[in-house]
Amino acid sequence: MNKEEGSFSSDRRNFMKRVTTGSAAALIGLPLIESAEKQVSPAYSKGLPPLKIKNIKVISTAPDGLNLIVVKVETSEPGLYGLGCATFTQRAFTVITAIEKYMNEFCVGRDPDNIEDMWQAFYVSSYWRNGPVLNNALCGLDQALWDIKGKRANMPVYQLLGGKCRFAVECYGHASGPTPEEVADSVQKFMAAGFRNVRIQQGGTTLMNFQHGGYGGAGSTAGQPDYAKAGFGMPADTFMDDQAYLRSVPVMFDIVRKRCGEEIEILHDIHERCQPMDVINMCRKLEQYRPLFIEDPLSPENTHWWKQMRESTTVPFAMGELFNNVNEFIQPMVNHYFDYIRIHVSQIGGITPAMKIARLGEWLNIKTAWHGPGDVSPVGHAANAHIDLAVWNFGIQEAVSFSEKTLAIFPGSPTMKNGYMHVNEAPGLGVDLNEKEAAKFPINNKAPGWTVRKKDGTIIRP
Ligand code: MG
Repeated sequence: MNKEEGSFSSDRRNFMKRVTTGSAAALIGLPLIESAEKQVSPAYSKGLPPLKIKNIKVISTAPDGLNLIVVKVETSEPGLYGLGCATFTQRAFTVITAIEKYMNEFCVGRDPDNIEDMWQAFYVSSYWRNGPVLNNALCGLDQALWDIKGKRANMPVYQLLGGKCRFAVECYGHASGPTPEEVADSVQKFMAAGFRNVRIQQGGTTLMNFQHGGYGGAGSTAGQPDYAKAGFGMPADTFMDDQAYLRSVPVMFDIVRKRCGEEIEILHDIHERCQPMDVINMCRKLEQYRPLFIEDPLSPENTHWWKQMRESTTVPFAMGELFNNVNEFIQPMVNHYFDYIRIHVSQIGGITPAMKIARLGEWLNIKTAWHGPGDVSPVGHAANAHIDLAVWNFGIQEAVSFSEKTLAIFPGSPTMKNGYMHVNEAPGLGVDLNEKEAAKFPINNKAPGWTVRKKDGTIIRP
């Protein structure tokens, strides 16, 4: 008999002894000590002490100008807490109110181990759902509960999701510039830094630089647009000439492909701004440049165009960052209308629903491409990366680089090397929060300007 068999037999004997002792105790009316223990410490907790949520706290900070919101779930165990991203940067104060006025009372006294139950209960607790305010609040709670569970289990969250499918997370960088040549220069810099995938956008280079058509929205005039000359709209509104944009994208692809070769995968985000037939005509021209994917070809209001779009071009599509609810993904995925699931994880309510859509994608051969812009906190980026590591049908992740100020607030943030994102091996999501540092950068109500107009002033849906 080997050692393992010996110890198994010995465990079995001890177990039988406990059972018979318990049965005898019950027969003679003695208290069942082990049963009482089990009531206090349920089987699923595997011997861990019982835990309750003591308090839900919101931490807000804007170290780089963008409002970041993080939920901190404090427990009855001193020092044990979880962090989750609840960032809805454009309407940050409303999320804070939802958490402080509703979520705290809802959660205090509950068992943080029951993540699925907590998610389902909060999801329907206000009866009306699907809104970005409550979904982001719910994500903060959900990710914090996964963080706590990881800390309890002494494992990184990716382990709880099934373990690693890959050593690190393949990412794409953001190449941009006012001209196609400058976009190509930017792509070459990313290639030199080790990236194998780059998204190319001509036009405004940042969210705040909207006077040139916004991020990737090339197609402005040098002078004032007609609506502004007529005194229509507001000075901060963005102008976009959608026809100029549609002409510029194939030119940009041609120049980047010729300059940078076939070794680089190139992506592009339409950002939902154009008419469906115009998008189809442009995508046909892009097929020869072999894009990895074309992102957000349709606004949420135009999703009934999917069938025609899919049948009209062979470019792969990524879609979903404006979806609010997991149910919005089901029909387009079942119909194979897109190839990459573009979830903004906090917008749909956290790791719990994102995992369900990722698993659905495995059966349908649709890959993940989680949205990872600057208006996601490092806690949220870490949550993205933990899912990316654990799901087989991972596709690609948006790269991120954090400022020194942000890193001082969020020790343990994911890191980038050679186009790969890495998480640390600390239990939970691996990111902490220095509240004193966070308090140095109060949030603001200056939301990025999503007011984009045509020549005549008509609003363009982003
Ligand atoms: Mg996008």
